[in-house]
Amino acid sequence: MEKYTITGLNIEKAASFLGISAQKMQEIIERRVLVPNWNEYQYLFRFEHKALNIDIGSVLVQKDDVFSLIFGFPKIKRAMLLGPAIRSNFGTISKVAVEEKMNGYNVRVILLEGKLVALTRSGHVCPYSSEKANNLLDTSFFIDNPQLVVYGEMVGPDNPYVPRKIYGIDSLDFFVFDMRHKDTGLPLPVYERRELCEKYGFKQVRLFGEFHIQEAADMVTNIIRDIGRKGHEGVVIKDPEMVLQPIKYTASQSNCSDLQHAMKVYNESGRDFIFSRIVREGFQSVEWEESEEEFRKRCLQLGESILRPMKESIIKVRDGERVTEEFTLRVKDRITLLKFEEYMRRLGMDIIFSEPKIVDDEYLVYMTKINKSTSDKTLAMWEGQLWS
Ligand code: ATP
Ligand code: MG
Repeated sequence: MEKYTITGLNIEKAASFLGISAQKMQEIIERRVLVPNWNEYQYLFRFEHKALNIDIGSVLVQKDDVFSLIFGFPKIKRAMLLGPAIRSNFGTISKVAVEEKMNGYNVRVILLEGKLVALTRSGHVCPYSSEKANNLLDTSFFIDNPQLVVYGEMVGPDNPYVPRKIYGIDSLDFFVFDMRHKDTGLPLPVYERRELCEKYGFKQVRLFGEFHIQEAADMVTNIIRDIGRKGHEGVVIKDPEMVLQPIKYTASQSNCSDLQHAMKVYNESGRDFIFSRIVREGFQSVEWEESEEEFRKRCLQLGESILRPMKESIIKVRDGERVTEEFTLRVKDRITLLKFEEYMRRLGMDIIFSEPKIVDDEYLVYMTKINKSTSDKTLAMWEGQLWS
């Protein structure tokens, strides 16, 4: 049988860069662990599976036969009980840094042939996010720090993935929350990263402060109550040196709003995404020692966030419509729209794009995503099929 290869990848050199034999490299390619990105980005290879201790979503970049590795952003584990989680995860250090967790989507930015390129969590080059990165970030940072990767959240309403109006952002903005070295994935300490952001004028997630371990749970509880009132998402608690794993904790209102989005398209949403958010409500209600009245309010909020959007989807399908989600895009370059449409098509998404409208020198487009899986499943129920 003919060997499966990836055009353009120098197997010998890639193997030596990764510290493995050429044969092992060949195996990785045959098992489709490494997959090239599309079009002009075919020299960026995505890890579609975890291998060699390198996480899914990491990207191997080959440029003139020189390699670099852009690590995926590690999953942040969720605290269920703040007090015990802080004590047990950060017991060996004296202070933690508490940063705001913003609700948008995760993007990694690198410089490639003079242009910024934005990678999504899965390691795809997103044309929309790349245009935004080029307009929002000062390229000189990447020239001065070629070994660093910038990790941040794309936040705001003109957003093809997680549109939210909760931050008073007009269109879409980028907030840095991490910087890591290429090839090792080692993060910069919180303060070093924050100073670099200041220096280059990058927006960054808010730092609420540094707190002693003993007082951190109380401080975070107060911060979370405030965040909840504002409708913001939550916090990420970090070792200032970024040696220990960070943990995340979110406001009840944000869990509920995530659940609303997830349950509207219940057949598309990850079970664990839904389940962890429900379980957290139980733990928070006990840790916060709430009254019966507060507890009932929480029950009602949680129940409504799960059932109401689902009910609407079920009715929609009964009435002959499909379950869809609406997004707005806004770009400066019309080519970005074409590239983004192609990108969505190649990802296999069922999407309808409106004709672009010109608004303030930019193109505005509405995008309707058809949630085929939820629509089909719901229709099947109406046709009398059984659940599984
Ligand atoms: P889960 O289902 O466990 O909640 P998830 O994949 O939905 O997992 P998130 O809840 O969104 O993950 O939490 C992790 C994400 O939070 C990161 O990938 C990052 O995009 C985002 N984030 C926002 N602000 C920060 C911050 N200050 N520090 C780190 N990550 C942040
Ligand atoms: Mg998120």
